[in-house]
Amino acid sequence: MAKRDYYEVLGVQKNSTDEEIKKAYRQKAIQYHPDKNPGNKEAEEKFKEAAEAYDVLSDAKKRSRYDQFGHSGIEYGADGDFNMNMEDILSRLNDLFSGGFGNGFSSIFGGGNGYAQQYLNRGSDIRIRIKLTLEEIVKGVEKKIKINKLVACSHCNGSGAKDGEYSVCQSCRGTGKTVRVVRTMLGQMQQVSMCSACQGQGKTIATPCSHCRGEGTVRQESEISFKVPAGIGEGMQLTVAEKGNAARRGGINGDLLVMIEEIPDKELIRDGNDLLYTLFINIPQAALGCTVEIPTVDGKAKIKIASGTQSGKILRLKGKGIPDVNRYGIGDLLVYVSVWIPKKLSKDEEKILKKLEESENFKPNPDREDKSIFEQARSIN
Ligand SMILES: [Zn+2]
Ligand SMILES: [Zn+2]
Repeated sequence: MAKRDYYEVLGVQKNSTDEEIKKAYRQKAIQYHPDKNPGNKEAEEKFKEAAEAYDVLSDAKKRSRYDQFGHSGIEYGADGDFNMNMEDILSRLNDLFSGGFGNGFSSIFGGGNGYAQQYLNRGSDIRIRIKLTLEEIVKGVEKKIKINKLVACSHCNGSGAKDGEYSVCQSCRGTGKTVRVVRTMLGQMQQVSMCSACQGQGKTIATPCSHCRGEGTVRQESEISFKVPAGIGEGMQLTVAEKGNAARRGGINGDLLVMIEEIPDKELIRDGNDLLYTLFINIPQAALGCTVEIPTVDGKAKIKIASGTQSGKILRLKGKGIPDVNRYGIGDLLVYVSVWIPKKLSKDEEKILKKLEESENFKPNPDREDKSIFEQARSIN
């Protein structure tokens, strides 16, 4: 069965935030949960489909690969299928939503309080753009950049509390949770949510750190280095995990999202993983054959042009292109030969050419291969 688009499966937009995706998945999980749809095969399929979509879209790396390459960017199991069984899905669902669903959902999601604290407190992502030369794209490169970002305050170790002193949160009396009873489609139940006064920590700062005014973060210029893989291209995005902004009062850092831009090369044109170069030779060179220098990604290279080479001929230099970003081999360098026809002539040159015009070998007499040059060029593009 053809896979549906993951965004469509969850009913979210391509630019949806992690939180929106999580919310959408929660809705689908409730709707198609096997406990609510016993023996319903279609619901089970939908349930699994949603879990698969969430697995990919909730993981920054997988999501960016999916955005770039679609389903072919995701590694599935050996049988080409999603390798998570029903047990896995249910147990992950439990981890994911148990805190938020509260006790009312115990029968469905097994209860528990596994809502991992650190996921609540995450710094924001930082987006940057970098420009890469063709050489950097071909060889891969380690980039060092300086960005202005939020880092953990060194005076309070990112806690925001002066001398590390806390007091018990008055709103939730230290539990980190607030409980209220709500009516839902599954009946009345308790909804446990995070205490907003203390962000679920159960404690508040006694005296704010004076250096960061209790935020736990300060803005400063930081140097970050990361590897750019060979073969990357215009519009692709790299995720450098946890190199974004620090979280307020401790937690995990956001990510650094790096958008790639290509600086066009003066001589070589990129076409997927192949490189294209137009080589101009003159009429005697085409007729007599010659050795010429051409630019490649490894510097100049000499190639031989056979005698009797027609304009439009394409020479393929295997493996002289760009490595595939997924390591599916390496592209070629295609050299388009173009025979230069002079646009103005001296009296002498004109005389020579007049003479040649009548010469037997200068009358066009193409064979099948010569005629196919046009076809060749078309099949490449
Ligand atoms: Zn501080
Ligand atoms: Zn509280």
